[in-house]
Amino acid sequence: MEKDASAPDPSRQCNGFSGVLYGEFTDTLNDGVRYSVSLTESALTIQRISSSPDRTKVVFNLSDCIGCRAYKGPDSADIGAYFAAYFYPFKRRWMSTGVARQRVEQCFRVALAQDPLVNLREAERWAHAIRDASVLQAPRRDGVMYTELRRPCRTMILVNPHSGRGQALQLFTGHIQAMLTEASVPYTLVITEHQNHARELVRNADLTQWDALVIMSGDGLLFEVINGLMEREDWQQAIQTPLGMLPGGSGNALAASIHHYSQSPPAWNEELLLSCGFMLCKGLVGSLDLVSVHLASSQRLFSFLSLAWGFVADVDIESEKYRHVGAIRFLMGTLVRLASLRVYQGRLAYLPAKEIPKPPNERAKATRPPFTPQQPSLCSSLPCHLVPKASPKQSSLKNCVDTNLNQNSITNSSNVITNMRPETHGNNKTTSPTDSLLPSLCQPVPENWTVVNEEDFVLVLAICHSHLAEDLWTVPGAMADDGLIHLFYVTAGISRPALLRLFLAMERGSHLAYGCPHLVYEKVRALRLEPISQQGMITVDGEVVEYGPIQAQVHPRMARLICG
Ligand code: ADP
Ligand code: MG
Repeated sequence: MEKDASAPDPSRQCNGFSGVLYGEFTDTLNDGVRYSVSLTESALTIQRISSSPDRTKVVFNLSDCIGCRAYKGPDSADIGAYFAAYFYPFKRRWMSTGVARQRVEQCFRVALAQDPLVNLREAERWAHAIRDASVLQAPRRDGVMYTELRRPCRTMILVNPHSGRGQALQLFTGHIQAMLTEASVPYTLVITEHQNHARELVRNADLTQWDALVIMSGDGLLFEVINGLMEREDWQQAIQTPLGMLPGGSGNALAASIHHYSQSPPAWNEELLLSCGFMLCKGLVGSLDLVSVHLASSQRLFSFLSLAWGFVADVDIESEKYRHVGAIRFLMGTLVRLASLRVYQGRLAYLPAKEIPKPPNERAKATRPPFTPQQPSLCSSLPCHLVPKASPKQSSLKNCVDTNLNQNSITNSSNVITNMRPETHGNNKTTSPTDSLLPSLCQPVPENWTVVNEEDFVLVLAICHSHLAEDLWTVPGAMADDGLIHLFYVTAGISRPALLRLFLAMERGSHLAYGCPHLVYEKVRALRLEPISQQGMITVDGEVVEYGPIQAQVHPRMARLICG
């Protein structure tokens, strides 16, 4: 513990005080107003020194502090120096109910000596001590393992100027820029110029230059960044780069989820942005699950958020035309889609989370025909280019495409599972992680998977986080690294009012409490969806992907997320 040489020994000044620093400073605007200021490991306490009986103490928790800086005043004749600490405590909203983080600056003038340098050194000492103590006092959630961002954290901030209502850049300069300066976070701003710009940029970036990649946009830009990282040859290291999210889009599901995980009261719009900015400045890093997604064209993607088919995917994409209204576009899209509610036919199977994955050789024996044996597998309707180039070992794959579900194809599928791992690309380099839970899309799902009996759906939604949008609390118990895909489906037969009620209840996270017989919720580790309806939309993280059979498995804790 450091002692303040300029002030009397604090432990002797005040009974029971076990402070780190104690000092007396003046108000920045009025030299006649003096404060006693004490810094402990967890709080900065300020008390006005006055002859009046009112000696109210104001206590600021260092867990709410993002930074502190010392500086000389603008007047060269001024011998004093200054230090300012920046807090974002929860405070009652003005003209509204509830609390939200709000900025409070505490600034003091140091004029202990006639020598300006001595005063500046003292102000710096305080700023340093407050900064150091604040770093250790970040709000942590019990049971979550965090690491800390390197300091100073060299941050690349990618802004999509077209996300949301096209105001991401203004939101950044209006709310975040100053915060980063207060927290001494050095950053480089990159404004994306076109779709996939961010993806290309991180795919080729020298990542040793960056301690964090932060997205100021909706979820779509993070999807680009994650896939860009996973396309690199050094994906294993690249995906360990801490990722941050600042909500600037219309779909800010991850930002809303991170805020929710921090156990803060609900926040929207600029308040949500401020909360995420605060977490970025505090610099705690947790783990983030990723989901590996396979499409029929053998394309592979990585998702951090959702896979949607039917109602949710249609609303997401159809509501693009209302983008100018912001997040409310989803509500408008929901109402429009409800008016023309449709049923989507397809097959769904999943690996329940409670199933312990079998080792590959056992699993191979255990495979069984996908879905109902009477029906032809959708594999048979897949184009032949689906099939990996036939090696002598894999030549039976062709059978898998052309033939139906006989014992032969089951046996073949076991070969495929073994032969397909690890994932290889054209040049045979191991360039992506192994999906040990997934057979080839042409193969039957393993025996320990559950095949859903229904074929008529209104929606299928696989989601990895608590929120699907800022005001849709879809999975009450979800965590960023729970190792789970939360699978929801709604079967045909649900009435329009019942479906609307579910979405309205989702604002409070109470939709599951309705006991709606058409809504099913399962925790899973892998899933496969095979649409039968000729037309429809599938989205991954809100981005449209090719329509057709799709399967996915979770990779727990594959990435790292700035949270708190
Ligand atoms: P929103 O939540 O508003 O949809 P997103 O971050 O999801 O915001 O971005 C929407 C889409 O814009 C994504 O498909 C993303 O890849 C794409 N995109 C990113 N940068 C640009 C850009 N500069 N111009 C056009 N599209 C972009
Ligand atoms: Mg989007």
